[in-house]
Amino acid sequence: MELTRNPFIKNALKSRYPQLAVFIVMLVGYVFAILAGLIGTPVGSHNFSIVFVWIAWWAILILVAVPFFGRGWCAVCPIPLPGEWLQRGAVLTPPDKKPKWLNLRWPKALRNIWLQNISFLLLALFSSVLLTTPNITAIVLAAMLFAAIGLSTIFERRSFCRYLCPVGGFIGLYSQTAPIELRIKEKQVCVTCDGKPCYNGSANGYGCPWDVFPGGLTKNTYCGLCMECIRTCPHDNIAINLRPFSADLSKPSTRMDEAFKAFIMFGSAMIYAGVLLGPWGALKDAAYNVGTSAWFMYVIIFLGMIFIILPGLFSFSLSLSPNPSPAGRGVGVRVFASLATALLPLGLMFWVAFSLSFVLTNATYIFVSLSDPLGLGWNLFGTANTAWQPMLTSILAPAQTLALVGGLIWSARTAQKAAGEVKVSSIPVIIYCFIATLAMLWLLL
Ligand code: SF4
Ligand code: SF4
Ligand code: SF4
Repeated sequence: MELTRNPFIKNALKSRYPQLAVFIVMLVGYVFAILAGLIGTPVGSHNFSIVFVWIAWWAILILVAVPFFGRGWCAVCPIPLPGEWLQRGAVLTPPDKKPKWLNLRWPKALRNIWLQNISFLLLALFSSVLLTTPNITAIVLAAMLFAAIGLSTIFERRSFCRYLCPVGGFIGLYSQTAPIELRIKEKQVCVTCDGKPCYNGSANGYGCPWDVFPGGLTKNTYCGLCMECIRTCPHDNIAINLRPFSADLSKPSTRMDEAFKAFIMFGSAMIYAGVLLGPWGALKDAAYNVGTSAWFMYVIIFLGMIFIILPGLFSFSLSLSPNPSPAGRGVGVRVFASLATALLPLGLMFWVAFSLSFVLTNATYIFVSLSDPLGLGWNLFGTANTAWQPMLTSILAPAQTLALVGGLIWSARTAQKAAGEVKVSSIPVIIYCFIATLAMLWLLL
């Protein structure tokens, strides 16, 4: 169903002003989070930077934005804005074609998401400190803003978003499961279109900031939903469509960087559940005591789990397939990467189930921080003294079970499609997902 048939939606997306208004609110909130982290209370649960970034924003992102709107967050994310304004030499008006800065092409060898995998892992390994220490959160938020600005002055378009952002990598991967997409309407119109303004820009807007050609889009992964192509296409050939969930996964990716991203997210959710919600005090201590020998051991276990144990078991299970790889050389890269696609729905549901625990346990801090964002004893809205208590405890376990079982069924169906594409059996992947789901249920419940 095409949403952009509705004139109200279409005009709201074509105009730059509604998006700019949201951008400015987000940018103010982002800068305030940095300042709160630097000058507010060091008590994480009473500091806006921790509470609004890691509880409120995370809840909205993982429970609503990614599952239902894919890269919807990227459409309003403030991080690339200052760099983009600097790069364009304009806030609203499309500039002349002269590059303002170096405007280099991103190096070919780095045109993949390995750097995003690394940047996510770096945050993940330090996350216990990041999630509890306001000034560390502020430093990371500021570093992302300045990295985006710096890259905008060196490389063309949104290189930070496309190749470096630790958040954008997993949003892009999971956005394939979302029931929304931006696509062209008629392929033939693109074939005969002069100048391809959706990619090269025109007086009406900028060439695709994410360096994709909208006319060739078949997946959500690298479209940041910035809406520029809706503004630039002279033939009204771009649509926003509602579609079935996970439509992109019927054509699985064969890229190893994306396959490993699936393992990174899948494994990180299980490790976080163990560290933050599990009964193992020693594991928690190791994760929190950054720089100690226990922490280095934790890093080795974390990376070993993600890069060796989980993919190794996956590969081993595929090699037991009654219908082996057509290449006849064990599990080929194409088979491995294609079937790793099946981990996406379950991985997303692992994060949903884990985040429900984390968010519902800590949500009352949002009310406290709203009234006293810096922890200075203010009471702006009369909610500063809200007593801490976990919310909706009675529905937590059923909701988590539902998410995990639903994720398992969803992944099993995805595995069947992916296995059909590469002509192998889906049974090993389904068994792998089943065992992982049991492990996650055990960790969470
Ligand atoms: S990729 Fe990262 S920085 Fe870029 S818009 Fe998305 S979340 Fe924001
Ligand atoms: S500008 Fe429109 S018609 Fe032309 S190539 Fe892009 S999407 Fe297709
Ligand atoms: S210009 Fe179009 S294809 Fe490119 S990121 Fe923006 S919305 Fe997606």
